[in-house]
Amino acid sequence: MESIDYYEILQIERDSSGEEIKRSYKRLAFEFHPDRNPGNPEAEEKFKKINEAYQVLSDSNKRARYDSFGHISAEGIFTDVDFESGFGDIFGNLFEEVFNAGGAEKARRGRDLKYSLDLTFDESIDGCEKELKIPRRETCRDCSGSGAARGGEVICTSCGGRGELRYSQGLFAIKRVCPTCGGTGKRITKACAKCRGEGHVLAEHLVKVKVPAGISDGVRLRMRGEGDSGHLNGPGGDLYIEIHVEEHPLFRREEQDLYCTVPIEFVQAALGAEIEIPTHKGKSTIKIPAGTQSGQTFRLKGKGVPRLEGRGQGDLYIQLQVEVPVRLNKKQQLLLEEFARASQVENVPMVKRFVSRVQDIFNK
Ligand SMILES: [Zn+2]
Ligand SMILES: [Zn+2]
Repeated sequence: MESIDYYEILQIERDSSGEEIKRSYKRLAFEFHPDRNPGNPEAEEKFKKINEAYQVLSDSNKRARYDSFGHISAEGIFTDVDFESGFGDIFGNLFEEVFNAGGAEKARRGRDLKYSLDLTFDESIDGCEKELKIPRRETCRDCSGSGAARGGEVICTSCGGRGELRYSQGLFAIKRVCPTCGGTGKRITKACAKCRGEGHVLAEHLVKVKVPAGISDGVRLRMRGEGDSGHLNGPGGDLYIEIHVEEHPLFRREEQDLYCTVPIEFVQAALGAEIEIPTHKGKSTIKIPAGTQSGQTFRLKGKGVPRLEGRGQGDLYIQLQVEVPVRLNKKQQLLLEEFARASQVENVPMVKRFVSRVQDIFNK
């Protein structure tokens, strides 16, 4: 049984990096490629081995297994090396890379752009429409992206306007992007004055955005094709709008619900009252019963934030905070002392419960 050392095949060290492996593979695959070695079965065999070795060593999992167990046989450990199907891919990529190394001009998708949009709290809840001025690269209209002035373009003599060169080697034909014109088939003799031959210009692009009601901080909206224009009729990039919502001085938002802490006077809490509260749509009132405690929360259904998906709204939670009066004057002090004398243990059930619990524990 033949023992194969993949590292030897790729002519690399056992601690070579992924980049080194790739480099060595490219060099060898190019050298032993059947197109360059027509009618040479040895080169073809070697080319297959090089590919097999690369498939294992370029995959960190397979490489780790190979390093631990070694190569047993063609049918042994590496039965998962799918030579036939993997071949085309690697082959294709390799040659595209090698042949396009001269910087071929191809249609390219425009860059994606990011824009940071600040919204007020109300805008985020009610939704809004914004007009944004986005600086972006756009295809030059004067030259339609070619970069050439009118009449400033001639057919490339190297490739005769085809944009590619063909070599024949035995039975095989190899195509190569024309290095003179970069694949466009044309050569610019006079650059477009507007874009100075770049093919694109910087322009302020007006984008109308409909921000949906209920959007929250940190959400990104994607607008297809509103980014940089594509190169040579390539598709436009996308525009990502990142939403930043200003904090509200009164409300805290959690998902679709709003929270607000409202202080009330202790007499109101004791006697019950109608108190004014804020909603994000304006002022409103709620009735609180006699004996309301600090921290008690009231829910106002549907006064929260609209849901982005589906119907309905979140709720508004009003948490009451009972304020104990400070800086009492003489008269107030006397009144409260009188109130204390008139108080009974039934007036303060929480205090009563707590005192009896403490007694249970410490007076056994
Ligand atoms: Zn131009
Ligand atoms: Zn050319």
